[in-house]
Amino acid sequence: MSEEKTILCKTCGSELLGDYCHSCGEKRLKPEDKSARKWLADLFSNIWMLDGKLFNTAKAMMLAPGRFARDYIEGIRKPYVKPLNLFLMANLVYFLTSGFDTFKTELDVQIKGMPYSTLIDGVIENKYGSSEDKTQVYLDFEQRYNTKTGEVSKLIIIVLAPLLGILFYALFRKKGLYLSDGFNLALQFWTYFTVVVLLILPQIFRLLRSLFGPDVLNTGFSSEFWLTPLILILSGLYTYFQFSWLEKRKIALLARVAVVIVAFLPLVFIYRFILFWMTYWML
Ligand SMILES: [Zn+2]
Repeated sequence: MSEEKTILCKTCGSELLGDYCHSCGEKRLKPEDKSARKWLADLFSNIWMLDGKLFNTAKAMMLAPGRFARDYIEGIRKPYVKPLNLFLMANLVYFLTSGFDTFKTELDVQIKGMPYSTLIDGVIENKYGSSEDKTQVYLDFEQRYNTKTGEVSKLIIIVLAPLLGILFYALFRKKGLYLSDGFNLALQFWTYFTVVVLLILPQIFRLLRSLFGPDVLNTGFSSEFWLTPLILILSGLYTYFQFSWLEKRKIALLARVAVVIVAFLPLVFIYRFILFWMTYWML
């Protein structure tokens, strides 16, 4: 019989039966694993694998959101980048580029266009003077505020992610969805949202403006007039496909998508209210 003494996994102490630990997945290191050539080969194979996974994930996210969501929930996870990593990657790109500031709300809008505007107008007036007079002190503050709020707003999308997850769970838990599934699907949704609405859409707008002049999308309305319904349609469609495999009754599915869209609006107000105070305190 074998004279070999049992080899234990260096990481978790389980008895090793092959090169990989059945318990924690650690690989047993051999001297040749430490060669520089192996190190380089590993590096390239990691990049290659990430590349393949990323491509696969991006393709599924854009072309088959239903299959993407279903696969992840039913346990086909290896072919895809983890939702949290995917979300963080998309956000990193968003932080580093000057994409859309859909989530940025300038001081003017906070003071005039929100349900809670009277409150904020009072706070600002006390400290920086009336938003009607626009003294130099006020204008200086406004400029600083608008720059700062752009930075803060990019961070807040991270707060919105779990809120949507809880909403998904509440709507589909009777269909067997777990809260963690809700979070994963919300992360997939926000990744799509970040890529399509915050990164690609502004480029399309920019292209249209450069082709047809700066006023092409205004036609008498502000550009927000186009933006809000467009964003709601893009979001609603995506949610519809994400859950079409789980809820087969079309009417029931549409009703739930409508709830998501309707919930979006107060969420936007709450979000903007928090955004104001965060910006205000950070100035
Ligand atoms: Zn182990």
